Amino acid sequence: MAHPLSVAVVGSGPSGAYCARLLTEDGSLDARVDVYERLPAPYGLVRYGVAPDHQKIKSITASLAEILEHPRVRFVGNVAVGSDVSLDGLRRHYDAVILACGASVGRRLGITGEDLPGVFSATDFVAWYSGHPDAAVDRFSLTAEQAVVIGVGNVALDVARMLVRTADELRRTDVPEHVVEVLAASSIREITIVGRRGPAFAKFTSKELAELGALESADVVVDPADLILDEEQEAALAANPAARRVLAKLRAMADREPRGARRSIRFAFACRPAEFLGTTAVEAVRFQRSLGRSSEPVDVPAQFVLRSIGYRGSRLADMPFDERTGTVPNDVGRVIGPDGPVPGLYAAGWIKRGPTGVIGTNRPDASETVRALVDDMRAAPLKRAAAPGDPVDLLGLGGKAVVDWAGWRAIDRAEREYGERLGRHRVKLHDRTRLLDAASAPAASED
Ligand code: NAP
Repeated sequence: MAHPLSVAVVGSGPSGAYCARLLTEDGSLDARVDVYERLPAPYGLVRYGVAPDHQKIKSITASLAEILEHPRVRFVGNVAVGSDVSLDGLRRHYDAVILACGASVGRRLGITGEDLPGVFSATDFVAWYSGHPDAAVDRFSLTAEQAVVIGVGNVALDVARMLVRTADELRRTDVPEHVVEVLAASSIREITIVGRRGPAFAKFTSKELAELGALESADVVVDPADLILDEEQEAALAANPAARRVLAKLRAMADREPRGARRSIRFAFACRPAEFLGTTAVEAVRFQRSLGRSSEPVDVPAQFVLRSIGYRGSRLADMPFDERTGTVPNDVGRVIGPDGPVPGLYAAGWIKRGPTGVIGTNRPDASETVRALVDDMRAAPLKRAAAPGDPVDLLGLGGKAVVDWAGWRAIDRAEREYGERLGRHRVKLHDRTRLLDAASAPAASED
C-alpha cells in the first residue's frame, strides 16, 4: 500500500473503540484511526447509558481510554457526522469508514395518548440523569405520586432503581448535582413495572433483579398469581436457564413480606399497553390483561410514565438505513446499499445488529466487522478518492470547536475537581457549554 490504512470510526462507545483497537493492534495493517464523536466526551452509552450506580461496569472506561490514547488513534470530539461533516465527505478522505454510532433513540408504542405530558421515553430519563448534553437540565421534575414503567428489560430495572435511590446513594455516583436534588425530592411512592407477556419472557437478568430486591428504600412486590405459568411459559422456561433464575428470584420476592419501606416497586405481567388516559396530562395507563384466550382492560393510575421498550438507531444523511429495525443493512459488517455492498463502508455495534447484548457482546461483533474490512482490503486495496493529507484539516472543520483527547482529559479533570469541591468523587458537567469551556480551559500542565 502506498500509504497507511486510514479509517474513520463514527462513534466512541465500546463498539467503535473495539474496532479502533483491532485495527491498530495488528501492526501489519499500519492503520491510523480517527474516532469521530458528536459529543465533547467519549465512551457513548458507557458514559451516557450505563446506570450511574453501576460503577463497576463503568470502570470499563479505563480500558476504552487506553484504546483511544493509542498513538495511532485520534479522538475527534464534538463533531457530528451527518451535519458538521458528511458521511460522503468522510468516505472521500478515508480508505474506510466504520459506523459505530449506536442506537440512542427510545422506541415508541404507537398508542393513543403517548404524547400526553407525563409520558416519557426511558431513554430520555436515562440521558437526563446521566447528564447527557442533549437532555435539558430541567427536563424532569418528579412531582407525581405513582409511576409506571412499561417493559421488563434491564433498562426498566435501571430507571426504577434510580427513582428510589436515596440522596446519599446518588451522591456516591457521578450524577449532576441538580439530578440528585430532583431525584431526592421526588414524590413518587409507587412504581409499577409492567411486562406485556408472562414472567418467563422477562428480558431482565436475575443479577439486576436481585439488586432491586436488595434496596433498602423500596419494597418489591410480586403477586404470586402472576407466577402461575401456562404451557407456553413452561416450555420457554425449560429451554432457558437464565429465565429459570429470574423466575426463582421472582418467586422468592413473592414470598417476602413488605417491610413498610417508603416506596414500593410492583411487578405486573401479561398486560399489553393499550392507551394512555388523561385530559391535560397522563392520569393512568390502560392495559389489556391477558386471561388465556380473552383479555380484560386494567387501568393503572400513573402521573409519570416511562416507556422502556428498547432503543433504535437514527439515520445519518447518506447512510443506508432500515426504518423498520432502526439499523444499517449489512452483511457481517459490510454495509449494504440499494445497489449492493457500499465500498469501504462498514458497521459495528448496535447500529449494525440492533440494541441487544451487553458491552462484551461488542467485542466479537467488532471483530467480525474488522475482519470483513481487512479481507476486502487484502482482496483489493481500499482507495480514498481525495488527495492525501490530514483528513481533519481537509474536511474543513476549522470553524468547529473540535475536542481532541487533551480536551477530553481537561473535561475529565474538571469533573473530578468539581466533585471534590462538592465532597463527592466526581460530578458530571451536564450542559454542552460547560463541557466545551472545560475542554478549552488552559490546564494543560498535566501529561
Ligand atoms: P430489552 O432488553 O430488549 O427489553 C425491552 C422490553 O420492552 C421487553 O420486555 C419487551 O417485551 C418490551 N417491549 C417491546 N415492545 C413493547 C411493546 N410494544 N409493548 C410493551 N412492551 C414492549 O431492552 P432494554 O431494557 O432497553 O435493554 C437494551 C439492551 O441493553 C439489552 O440487551 C439489555 O440487557 C442491555 N442492558 C444491560 C444492562 C446490564 O447489564 N446491567 C443494563 C441496561 C441495559 P417483549 O420481550 O415482549 O418484546
